[in-house]
Amino acid sequence: MAAYEYETHEYDVVVVGAGGAGLRATLGMAEQGLRTACISKVFPTRSHTVAAQGGIAASLGNMGPDSWQWHLYDTVKGSDWLGDTDAMEYLAREAPKAVYELEHYGVPFSRTEEGKIYQRPFGGHTTEFGEGPPVQRTCAAADRTGHAILHTLYGQSLKEKAEFFIEYFAIDLIMSDDGVCQGVVAWKLDDGTMHVFSAKTVVLATGGYGRAYFSATSAHTCTGDGGGMVARAGLPLQDMEFVQFHPTGIYGSGCLITEGARGEGGYLTNSEGERFMERYAPTYKDLASRDVVSRCMTIEIRDGRGVGPNKDHIHLHLNHLPPETLAERLPGISESARIFAGVDLTKEPIPVLPTVHYNMGGIPTNYWGEALNPTKKNPDAIVPGLMAVGEAGCASVHGANRLGSNSLIDLVVFGRAAAIRAGETVNPNEANPTPSRASIEKCLDRFDGLRHASGSVATAELRLEMQKTMQSDAAVFRTDKTLAEGVQKMTAVAAKMDDVKVTDRSLVWNSDLMETLELANLMPNALATIVGAEARKESRGAHAHEDYPNRDDKVWRKHSIAHVDGNKVKLSYRPVHLEPLTRHEDGGIDPKKIAPKARVY
Ligand SMILES: Cc1cc2nc3c(=O)[nH]c(=O)nc-3n(C[C@H](O)[C@H](O)[C@H](O)COP(=O)(O)OP(=O)(O)OC[C@H]3O[C@@H](n4cnc5c(N)ncnc54)[C@H](O)[C@@H]3O)c2cc1C
Repeated sequence: MAAYEYETHEYDVVVVGAGGAGLRATLGMAEQGLRTACISKVFPTRSHTVAAQGGIAASLGNMGPDSWQWHLYDTVKGSDWLGDTDAMEYLAREAPKAVYELEHYGVPFSRTEEGKIYQRPFGGHTTEFGEGPPVQRTCAAADRTGHAILHTLYGQSLKEKAEFFIEYFAIDLIMSDDGVCQGVVAWKLDDGTMHVFSAKTVVLATGGYGRAYFSATSAHTCTGDGGGMVARAGLPLQDMEFVQFHPTGIYGSGCLITEGARGEGGYLTNSEGERFMERYAPTYKDLASRDVVSRCMTIEIRDGRGVGPNKDHIHLHLNHLPPETLAERLPGISESARIFAGVDLTKEPIPVLPTVHYNMGGIPTNYWGEALNPTKKNPDAIVPGLMAVGEAGCASVHGANRLGSNSLIDLVVFGRAAAIRAGETVNPNEANPTPSRASIEKCLDRFDGLRHASGSVATAELRLEMQKTMQSDAAVFRTDKTLAEGVQKMTAVAAKMDDVKVTDRSLVWNSDLMETLELANLMPNALATIVGAEARKESRGAHAHEDYPNRDDKVWRKHSIAHVDGNKVKLSYRPVHLEPLTRHEDGGIDPKKIAPKARVY
């Protein structure tokens, strides 16, 4: 048994993660007088949300007519009919409220002439239930929207006396024998001390797992730690096969060029100088949804019409736009294009390539953010004491494909919803749970095992093997052959976790150990992704299966549920919620409008 001393802390709520989702949840909990701790492995304003450029979707209607029902329709269609209708309605309906709250908290949004919040067009966001022209729905603070939101929420959380534990790495959930989450164990990175947090509710807001792939727009910290902790607790992950490739990562570095660039009038061309999106998506062209544009780019490159000496990428043009517009609306990406592609975007096109960007799958939750452990009898069974929000969670509002600017709004709507729910379910006057010694030791023992790991494969080597496998075998296009090979390879790669080698045994600023803990978290996420993809014999949203090119609603309109144990994955399925929250008679959407149909843009 590992002998570690630890300090204990008691809170009503412990939020793990200080990105947009974690901070919005923390702020909401603290505002209601709940004793709230927020744990983050990086300084809060360095969370990946800081990199979000384009904006946050809400049907404010500042630039022209819009409605939450139209936003709901677009989200349903974007999800390729895999999202849960109740959660999607909640998102679209609550979005304007959540954005006005951000405004009142102090987010410095860009403004229209009359002083209203500026909104830009984004892919897949339309009017008249997909019959009208694109809508300007995406609220923006220039191209630094995430940065503005994160700084504002952090300041407000401090004002509400939330307590921050910064550069603490959460290792595992503390689970009671009867399946209640009672807290987390964390490692303080700068002095090596161990900490046990007991809580009436734990909120996982740990972000995505983009780093399971070789080329991703996300930060190196996006390692799916929440998913890893949940898998180790014997709880499931949902819809992991759906991984979004953003059409415009800068060729080479993977650094993102926001979809706002196309929203402001940018367009893509192939080696013949053709605006090829007009051919594939006659109505919305370059503003079709992301999975569609990424596939079209990949087809152009495959058919020999890529640009560059190796004909392996595509051009994004902004050079026809007035330099004032670029300077005012897209200052950040002007800089990124210069640094990462060496181009002056007022004069030349930017070389781009579809790049891993977002994980639609995650920890299954209801629309209050409560984590689920579905059973045959009750597919919506709740895990007591556990919530998940943001990219780590799966409510599910993005289904098989997320629309641009629908993630930032997901963070704040569901961060807020989790706080509202906790206000109802957490009693500050009740005593905290007392985790058993054994449940704490279990977490410490695993930590100690990795700290002293003395196998033959270095962490960085194994990580690269995983990333290369995922990049080539769970890509934009998938086939029975690549997926079967991918499952085999990933199963073997995951088994090598038992043979990993950590060379630094210290506890203070041990980046070798931290990266090993992160790799141990990436692994179950990656495995669930490729196994879920191999099993899904259809094409839907971001899952483009060449041997099954059509969507099959009869068999496959259901959520994948993956239990990962070591290098084994057990799959089951759970029904999609089809009922909206509001009846049509009471002002809700007409169910006929969101009935499944072919998805064309
Ligand atoms: C480059 C880029 C641009 C984007 N632009 C947009 C956009 O314009 N609009 C939009 O809607 N979406 C955008 N997205 C998507 C969106 O930004 C993300 O989905 C979202 O920011 C995720 O937020 P989050 O709060 O869930 O997690 P993150 O912001 O990733 O934060 C995760 C937090 O968890 C903490 N954490 C993780 N593991 C641990 C652990 N073990 N212990 C302690 N703490 C831990 C981290 O320290 C961090 O604070 C973009 C994404 C990228 C990568």
